[in-house]
Formats: sequence, C-alpha cells, structure tokens
Amino acid sequence: MKITEIKTYLMQVGARPGMPAGDGSFRGSRNWLFVKIETDEGICGVGECSGWPRVIERAVQDLATILVGEDPRDIDRLWHRLYVGTMGHGMTGTVGGGALTGIEMALWDIKGKVLGQPIWNLLGGKFRDMIPVYGHAKTPQRARELMDRGYSAVKVGFTGGVDLDLVSSIRDAVGSDVDLMVDAHGPSWMTAGDAILVGRELEKLDLLFYEDPVAPENLDALQRVRDAVDIPLAAGERVSTIWGIRPYVERDLVDVIQPDTGRAGGITQMRKMAAMAESHYITMAPHSGSLGPVAEFAALHILATIPNVLMLERVEFDWPGRYEVVSPVLKSENGTLRVPEAPGLGVELIEEEIGKYPSDRNVADMPTNENAYEPGTFGECVYFQTRLRRRARLRLKRTEGD
Ligand SMILES: [Mg+2]
Repeated sequence: MKITEIKTYLMQVGARPGMPAGDGSFRGSRNWLFVKIETDEGICGVGECSGWPRVIERAVQDLATILVGEDPRDIDRLWHRLYVGTMGHGMTGTVGGGALTGIEMALWDIKGKVLGQPIWNLLGGKFRDMIPVYGHAKTPQRARELMDRGYSAVKVGFTGGVDLDLVSSIRDAVGSDVDLMVDAHGPSWMTAGDAILVGRELEKLDLLFYEDPVAPENLDALQRVRDAVDIPLAAGERVSTIWGIRPYVERDLVDVIQPDTGRAGGITQMRKMAAMAESHYITMAPHSGSLGPVAEFAALHILATIPNVLMLERVEFDWPGRYEVVSPVLKSENGTLRVPEAPGLGVELIEEEIGKYPSDRNVADMPTNENAYEPGTFGECVYFQTRLRRRARLRLKRTEGD
C-alpha cells in the first residue's frame, strides 16, 4: 500500500458566501484546514490541522514530498521522518505541530479503515462510550441554556479584562453542583502578581480549574501562581509535541493539561502526553476552542482510551456550517459526546460544502472594542494601561469585600 496524493481543504469559518464574518468567526480569524491522504488501494484518510491553518496548508503541501510513495500504515516511522525533516526550521511550534497532526490523524484513519476497526480499538480499547464535554458562557443566560441542553460544566473566558462579577453571576446562575472554570487566556500582559490577585478572588467560587493565568511562555510566573493560589490550574493548549508539554508535567505546574487535538502533534503524541500526565496524577481536558469537526472525532477516539480524562472542550453553540461540512455530525447528548464506532475516525469530508467557504483571512483583524489601538486609550498600550485598570478594579473589589 502506497500514498499517492495529499490534498488540503482550507475554509473560512463563521461566514456565509457574500456575507461578512459573523458569530463563531473569532473576529475573522477562524479557518479550518482538513487534509485527505489518498492511496493506491483506493482507501483515503482524513485529518485536521490547527495552529494557523492558512499557513499550515503550505506546510502540509511541502511535507507531501516526503510522504508520496510511502506505506501509510507505518505511522510512527513516517511521523519521525516528517519531524526530522522540519528540524532545520527551528523548534516545532504550533504550525509544524499542526501539519504533523493533520497528516498523522489521516494515517490513523487509513489504518483503521484497512483493518476495519475504529481507532480507539487500535489504541488499547475503550474505557467509556461517552465523553463528557463542557461549553462556554459569557452571560448567566447562556450558562442556563447550556444546562438546559444537559451540560454540567461551563467555562467563562476573560476577554478584554478580568471580570470577576461575571464569574460570580454565572456561579449563582448554575448553582453549586455544576463545574465552573475560568480561562484567563494567558495574555502577555498578565503578570504573576495580577494572576495571583485574581486567583485569590476566584478561590471563593469553587472552580474546577483556573486556565492559563499567565502567558504560556512564562513558566516561572506560572510556578508563582501555582505556589500562591489554592485552585487547580490548567494549561497547555498552545504547545505542541511531548517536549512542549513536558515542563508543565515534570514541574507539576498544573492539575490539568489541555493539548489541542489539531496541533498537539497527532493522536500518538496526545496518547503519550496523557501517559506523562498520568504518571503525575494529572488529568487531560483537550482544548477545542477553534477546532473543526474532524479533530473532534479524533479527540473522542483518544479520550475513550485513556484513564485520566477530565473532559473535552466544545463550542456547543457554534457556527451552523460545522454541521454541514462533514458526515456524520457530532451532537451532544446530556453533556456528553458518543464515541464513534465506524472504522478509522468515522467521519468524511463533504467537499462541495467546504468549497463554499474559501479562506479570506486567518488573523484577527477586527478590534475587540472601539478603542483598540487608539492613541491615549487603554487599548493603545495593553501592557501598561490595562494592568493599571485591572489592578484598580481588583483593589476596589477587595475594599468592597472588607
Ligand atoms: Mg483556553
């Protein structure tokens, strides 16, 4: 069996033809990149890459030169050939990780189809048939809508600033039996001191975890937060490969690792990360913020087979196109997703639907607020002005609480 061709399918997310970007577009930045590996025996595999899809498309096309003519069943050997082949470009970041991931996912899909088995059955079998998922809320009303759909876990993300009142109001809306998480999104201007101040306020709200309190490059700051705040911490969505996740695990910096299923390096890399975490009593809750529907299938196969699952992230109220570009589609059932049973990943691309959404841009070029980057405003210098504003708010809140 030989690989004959690798095709890529890049699409803009959150837009309709002839219409501007809307809900789910992540300020115009969101693209999905799917890959399809074809073989001389007529069996094809599909995968998905995240990490800057528009750039990764070219990376995948470049790597195809290594893969054509190879046996697709030698997954780990080929992964290492690709990995070594890109060493000259520097450390493997999320672009390289995304390219490796989509290709490796498609190779697993081929292997499953050749053997007539779902991928989870080639990874040691299942622990479970249903994977718990959590959604997102920016308002108490949206949190209640999630609960109406059967969810029992919800995450609040800070965008444009720390909003402790919002977290508190969502905790009040969902009650004490629901798992609540906070994602600070690791902004580069969040100092360890500020993350600790915020964390001490969040301690009162019984969180399942406090995610990316500081920038992912700043592991010493994360250590300071770890030492000072009594809440489980989560991180890891922006790193790729086992070497990227290694310090988080080795230094016990977090309670939950969150590799992104589209850019962590592949299904095998994710399984290895889970094993590394397991040896430190750390759980895994893969990131899925901007991911498309193919990577979600891959996450279910992985999470079915590991003991230390916490949950899978899900954009429950996503752009409707999510349910038009693949078949079958995944719909949540009482806050869980069912593990697929079909051979391979169990999902196929609907190419004519994908073709309706050509990629236009892949960076966030719409400002978060009207003052963004305006001279003399908070948006002008996020490192300095937003910090002053945040500290003033926190100080006020602490004073009110006294
Ligand atoms: Mg996050």
